[in-house]
Amino acid sequence: MAKPVIVVHYHELWLKGRNRNFFLAKLRQALLRSLEDLGVQRIGRPGDRMLIELGEAARVEEAVDRLQRVLGVANFAVARSVERDMDAICDAAWQEVEPEQFATFAVRAKRSDKSFPVTVMEIEQVVGRYLLDKLRAAGRSVRVHLDAPELTCRIEIPPGPVLVYARKIPGAGGLPANSGGRMMCLLSGGFDSAVAAYKMMKRGAHISFVHFWGGGARPGESSVHVARELVKKLVPYQLTAKLFLVPFEPLQREIVQWAPETYRVLLYRRLMLRIAEQLALRDHAQALITGDSLAQVASQTLQNMVAVGAAVSMPTFRPLAGDDKVEILALARKIGTHDISAEPFHDCCPVFMPKTPALYASAEELDRAEAALDAGVASPSSATASQQAFGSGIAALVRRGVEAAQVERFRYSAGRVEQVSSFRIESAKAQSA
Ligand code: ATP
Ligand code: MG
Repeated sequence: MAKPVIVVHYHELWLKGRNRNFFLAKLRQALLRSLEDLGVQRIGRPGDRMLIELGEAARVEEAVDRLQRVLGVANFAVARSVERDMDAICDAAWQEVEPEQFATFAVRAKRSDKSFPVTVMEIEQVVGRYLLDKLRAAGRSVRVHLDAPELTCRIEIPPGPVLVYARKIPGAGGLPANSGGRMMCLLSGGFDSAVAAYKMMKRGAHISFVHFWGGGARPGESSVHVARELVKKLVPYQLTAKLFLVPFEPLQREIVQWAPETYRVLLYRRLMLRIAEQLALRDHAQALITGDSLAQVASQTLQNMVAVGAAVSMPTFRPLAGDDKVEILALARKIGTHDISAEPFHDCCPVFMPKTPALYASAEELDRAEAALDAGVASPSSATASQQAFGSGIAALVRRGVEAAQVERFRYSAGRVEQVSSFRIESAKAQSA
């Protein structure tokens, strides 16, 4: 039996310029990791595509399934690998073309092994004529169109078996994993932030996640498992990920105690951004990501988004700002996060929800509200234990959040996502000190 070969095509756009080899190395890395246990024997790069040679007993269907999640792949095809003989080539071409629906087609051959006795032009003519006759005999109204065919049957002649393929499977598109720098995504458990993270991953960013969780009335009700499942769904696209889990309720209680009720949700958001910014700096990330969509909920009016965003100086990306919920949900279904986000979970934000949340806050108003927190502890005797340890005010709340964070690391290999470690930031710091 011939060994299966998969032909991978990538977008040409990112190949321009000097970064070509960098991007191609990243793509190769992602292909190798994704197909780790499937007996990849070689990944060749003849011309502007990659050829993945699998072992004889390789699980091709599984490879096809995994390849659909490799970013940077425009499309790919499982090639028929046949004897170096024109009859065998014609037969394979017919097997490839017959099940497809199209009105125009072309045959394209490439002969990198010049010892094959038939020229490229002859191969294209002979196979093209063979297919046209058989298609017409089968009652199909098709014609050859060399410039812009709907279907192209490709024949490649390297040394060894000949490769024939026509059925292209769409890839995930985008840029190869880990080619575009590091970012930190505020991941809530809802639909939006997971989709926002995916959109930036698709542009090559490597993303770490931070999730702020509240208690939940009953055990198991906390949102932590939802955040963890979302991260696990996204890891295959970027091969590894970290999830920072920050207990948020004690910090929310401080805001509730000291700040005007109407600003609560906005102050929660500012505190989340501030803590995320500090975690991002430790994680060598250069920007934050949120799932905000303009005017979707009260906290996302333009005024409120600007007032909240002013809390941090690190650039914050909001890749869903201009998307409709319908578009966001469609993408969530496509990447498999929809059903996880749809699970009920305890969202920390509605806790102590104000009766009338501010719709049009300004950064100055929120600064003033936070100053009230800074002045919060009037006398040392009224300070709580954590205020005595961390001081009072916003900066102290940020420190408390950062130091309480639990980190979980995930890795994708052999088609599965595994949690590889879990540790407290504080203890990591103590160890490295
Ligand atoms: P999502 O579906 O992502 O929850 P949303 O439309 O419900 O978004 P909000 O709940 O107002 O919007 O949250 C806006 C953004 O703030 C989220 O997309 C997310 O980036 C961040 N965020 C909100 N809650 C949390 C949380 N508990 N942990 C981490 N980030 C959060
Ligand atoms: Mg939400």
